[in-house]
Amino acid sequence: ERQRIVERWNDTATEVPAATLAALLEARVARTPDAVAVVFEGSEFSYAELDARANRLARFLLAEGVGPESLVAVSMERGVEMVVALLAVLKAGGAYVPVDPGLPGERVAAMVEDAAPVLVLADGVGAGRGMPVAVPVVIVDGPEGVGLLGGFGDGPLSVSERGVLLPEHPAYVMFTSGSTGRPKGVAVSHAGIVNRLVWMQAAFGLAVGERVLHKTPFGFDVSVWELFWPLLEGATLVVARPGGHMDPGYLAGLMRRERVGVTHFVPSMLQAFLAEPLAGVCSALRLVVCSGEALPGEVEERFFKVFPGTGVGAGTGVGGGVGVELYNLYGPTEVSVDVTWWRCRPGGVGGLVPIGVPVFNTRVFVLDEWLRPVPAGVGGDLYLAGVQLARGYVGRAGLTAERFVADPFSASGERMYRTGDRVRWTADGQLVFLGRSDEQVKIRGFRIEPGEVQAVVAAHPGVVQAAVVAREDTPGERRLVAYVVVAVDGVLSEAIRGFAAERLPEYMVPSAVVVLDALPVTTNGKLDRRALPAPQYAGGTGAGRGPATFHEEVLCGAFAQVLGLPNVGVDDDFFALGGHSLLATRLVSRIRTVL
Ligand code: AMP
Repeated sequence: ERQRIVERWNDTATEVPAATLAALLEARVARTPDAVAVVFEGSEFSYAELDARANRLARFLLAEGVGPESLVAVSMERGVEMVVALLAVLKAGGAYVPVDPGLPGERVAAMVEDAAPVLVLADGVGAGRGMPVAVPVVIVDGPEGVGLLGGFGDGPLSVSERGVLLPEHPAYVMFTSGSTGRPKGVAVSHAGIVNRLVWMQAAFGLAVGERVLHKTPFGFDVSVWELFWPLLEGATLVVARPGGHMDPGYLAGLMRRERVGVTHFVPSMLQAFLAEPLAGVCSALRLVVCSGEALPGEVEERFFKVFPGTGVGAGTGVGGGVGVELYNLYGPTEVSVDVTWWRCRPGGVGGLVPIGVPVFNTRVFVLDEWLRPVPAGVGGDLYLAGVQLARGYVGRAGLTAERFVADPFSASGERMYRTGDRVRWTADGQLVFLGRSDEQVKIRGFRIEPGEVQAVVAAHPGVVQAAVVAREDTPGERRLVAYVVVAVDGVLSEAIRGFAAERLPEYMVPSAVVVLDALPVTTNGKLDRRALPAPQYAGGTGAGRGPATFHEEVLCGAFAQVLGLPNVGVDDDFFALGGHSLLATRLVSRIRTVL
């Protein structure tokens, strides 16, 4: 019976070309050289143009010794230069390591030390902030880039130049939060990501010339399909300006202007987007892909109020577009972006939207603690196997062995990935997400190990003890809160928050730091989470300087409304009051409306 369960849900074997992403991208250029590959800030670049620029840079990289199994870090803002850089690394046979130029130096240092790249490709912004570890930084935009690359040809690369690149070689390394206090780099192979992209084309059929929005920061793996799916299919990448991904108003405008047909949102951002005045703005839209965190039924419902669906129950949403479809995709970075998918429907199922069934060449197991399959309806741990499994964590064999374990259902010694997600099968073979079996959380779509944040907070010289937890004191507003015991009175919460902000990406910085005399413990000595007090956000009491002019009054009112506080003074700090980037976009939207 148990074997039958495994076989029944896992019949996904499909033939996918045994080719590298680099080879497939080059084959596409040969087929549609004149099609528009990239639109960015009003300029267009054809496939041939993009390819020529990438070839030149790839030759430079080859001369520097880049090739299969070597890594190249890329520290650039979103734009056409960034796209060229990623293509060049792949063409040279290397794997790219995205490094967001906005990250704090310590985090960059940890990433670059672990990845040990041959060099860092940077633009003026990425180079300007300095690389905290000894590794060559090469500026490839502006006059410096022209001088550097001038001597290299831009014709197609020959096999003799590049050497043999295999599907098993890594295509990219992406860092994600690590519970031990240090981010970990996931190395994904060409075979894995090619399977994912070929599946996506079979599922959603992108046409030559169709337009896909690229807005996900390249350090997150959704960006991989946003970039390379269109570039494999002769479609056009509409590249959002740096920072633009956080601004729903800008995105709506861009989607209308550039007639975007396909876009992605994490559910919390989709919710913010749907709150924009969207009447008629998305005339070309036909597909919205959601992933990254659980998709609430209410958001699905709201989506089909704004956009007409297709098939049974299709409505007449005001957002424009003809038959816009919404899909819920699921997958950790460790399995080449996504491994299951579900088509949302108007009048959906309520509760959390299911995550559906596996993609090509992927097996999913729902197992109990003895690694035995559980029947439909029973919660279990989700394990994944198949071609999309990453090679592991770069330079972290122990960590790799913990998560990529032997697959007891494979006769050929394969591995399976232990996701840490809890799921169940429905009677008709759909997966439903239930939650996590560990501490890992998603906050606004960002994957965070509170243990990593805790390690950073505990490293503050004034902190004796620290605990970091995710709390949802206001429904729908999940925030990280740090609780600390300090060595000497007078170490301020704000100083500790500042310390964390210098070391962690914005989304990992605790919204509040609460100083306690001691951390509460249960009778067996464990942290008593339920006894941790809700944070009191500083200010918001109206005690500070009040508004004096009409504009100040309107602005203070908008701040208070968005933050859910009774009063906000003129000198109050939005972020110290519990504000975060997504709330900031809501604030901007609100200010636009009222002024
Ligand atoms: P990341 O590696 O950042 O893609 O995060 C992967 C984790 O995000 C998964 O292990 C899940 O916990 C969560 N996740 C991703 N997609 C979904 C989804 N559609 N529904 C529920 N959780 C999701």
